[in-house]
Amino acid sequence: MGATRKRVLTGDRPTGRLHLGHYVGSLQNRLSLQDEYECFFIIADLHTLTTRPEKAHISEVGENIRDLMLDYLAVGIDPDRSVIFLQSGIPETYELNLIFEMLVTVPRLERVPSLREMSKTASLESMPLGLLGYPVLQAADILLPRATLVPVGKDNEAHVEVTREIARRFNRLYGEVFPVPDALIGEVPSLVGTDGKSQMSKSRNNTIDLADDPDTVRTKVLGMFTDPVRVHADIPGRVEGNPVFIYHDAFNPNLEQVVELKERYREGKVGDVEVKRHLVEALNVFLGPIRERRENFMRTPSLVEDILITGTERMRDEARETMSLVREAMGMYRLPE
Ligand code: ATP
Ligand code: MG
Repeated sequence: MGATRKRVLTGDRPTGRLHLGHYVGSLQNRLSLQDEYECFFIIADLHTLTTRPEKAHISEVGENIRDLMLDYLAVGIDPDRSVIFLQSGIPETYELNLIFEMLVTVPRLERVPSLREMSKTASLESMPLGLLGYPVLQAADILLPRATLVPVGKDNEAHVEVTREIARRFNRLYGEVFPVPDALIGEVPSLVGTDGKSQMSKSRNNTIDLADDPDTVRTKVLGMFTDPVRVHADIPGRVEGNPVFIYHDAFNPNLEQVVELKERYREGKVGDVEVKRHLVEALNVFLGPIRERRENFMRTPSLVEDILITGTERMRDEARETMSLVREAMGMYRLPE
């Protein structure tokens, strides 16, 4: 055991396609951690039920899981080094979730800022118990493989804090079973959407998806919001907080070009359209190899499915081991076999 690598756990809900925000918020870190850590990437299908329990939504999950798998493999998550697994394929998740529910209070969860937001976005009348428990279920996901590092976007940091508290409380009550994991926030903690108003998000229709084709990227970028007071190209423009430049900074590797465009923009010497054209180019260069890998995997759907099955079996072994440590530590009464 001593020689095993430290673990990472993170993942996504299968509610739609991954976008540039996911890339800079979490995927980028996942890719660079694959060597040093044993990485577990969860497709959190149970978490979709917290805001979308209707059968119509459930029926979309299968398709979304396939899309998510393709997104993962396309960006370069390597199934030979990392584990990709399906949350609902790990029944121990429900078990650990129930135990963890005893270790956290309702007022504590009511203070998690993102939950209110999620309930509002999903137009729920009031908070379902399961949605309030979202970070508890996430704690079960993170601690089942006993992960020490959780690469997430800024909006998820408060959830990881709940995991840390639950891990500490468990260890205090029953003995040291769990590490207290750290969140690792991405290079861009919260990437703004193409609307320039709120965080890029699947449910806000303001995304550029990793699966978008070149024409879609062009249309989306040309329609992006920029500096709202700049009505003509010869008026000095604002670079700070301007989503087009935020994307240039995040995705255009040609630093010289970015510096030069910013200078001219500030002086009112370049039009929005030109700045956007360069961004379209940079994004398509960035997305090129991702598209290529996606194409390859799309040709072998059974391979993609096998990767998920194998990963889920691998995680199941870990989950069984953790649960036996948990039961032993708690000293729960067990019926004789
Ligand atoms: P939803 O609209 O369903 O909430 P989402 O697009 O916000 O979807 P999540 O599933 O909430 O995506 O996020 C998955 C992971 O990606 C989390 O770690 C989250 O912090 C990160 N993330 C999501 N959007 C962004 C963003 N715009 N910038 C940085 N990180 C992000
Ligand atoms: Mg979100």
